Amino acid sequence: MHRSSHDYTHLIGRWRVLASSLGLRLSLIAKVDGYPIYCVKSARLRSAPGVYLSAGIHGDEPASTEGLLAWAEGNPVCLREMPFLIFPCLNPWGLVRNKRSDASGNDVNRTFQGDEHPTSAAVRRVAEAHRLAAAMLLHEDYDAHGIYLYEQRQPSLFGELILQAAETFIPRDTRTRVDGRKAREGILRPRLSAKLFEKGGCPEAVWLHLRGCRRTVTFETPSEMSLEARTLAQVAAIERLVDLQRQGADEG
Ligand SMILES: [Zn+2]
Repeated sequence: MHRSSHDYTHLIGRWRVLASSLGLRLSLIAKVDGYPIYCVKSARLRSAPGVYLSAGIHGDEPASTEGLLAWAEGNPVCLREMPFLIFPCLNPWGLVRNKRSDASGNDVNRTFQGDEHPTSAAVRRVAEAHRLAAAMLLHEDYDAHGIYLYEQRQPSLFGELILQAAETFIPRDTRTRVDGRKAREGILRPRLSAKLFEKGGCPEAVWLHLRGCRRTVTFETPSEMSLEARTLAQVAAIERLVDLQRQGADEG
């Protein structure tokens, strides 16, 4: 395991430096399993529907947290000018231990159906105060053969363009079934309903979709490949999504 990518104090320290250099606030939203959890809001979020970005809800997916920070560090102007709601790491207990779950063994990404889990309850509370235009949830997958993504709501071009940007660094997963679902050239578009998740628990992306976020993309890198390539692929995916949002900002 790559030590520094699992060093939560270091990660948040870098976010703090970046936020203060941009005049943004790193706000504490909850303390879970002994760790503080933060969000970053850009100033424009007050006046326009935001782009929601989140990483590290599974602690064994460190290219997500590294990629989100690297993207932010590389795009200060964008952070200043566009509306963002950013969650740098939603499962620090897991990140530090290289574990998918939280301290109680819960998959935090199956707890968005209600307010029982302190992390998702805090995220829901923060996110509900804002209009959201798009969301990207950053993940990794041990079984993946390449990059792939889940997307909800068209335009369907969106997912394809994101993969094209990221496959500069890692080729896409071309399996026709991924995680038990039908996939096409690295894109999965499962049909969703609230009912589907009543038993298994609701993922972050599904909650965002059901509450009206126009576009949600769950981006995955294959965790067996090098951390550097995975981080670059994550950065490229975020950059592409943000570019597309900027171009489509006036579409309503
Ligand atoms: Zn994950």
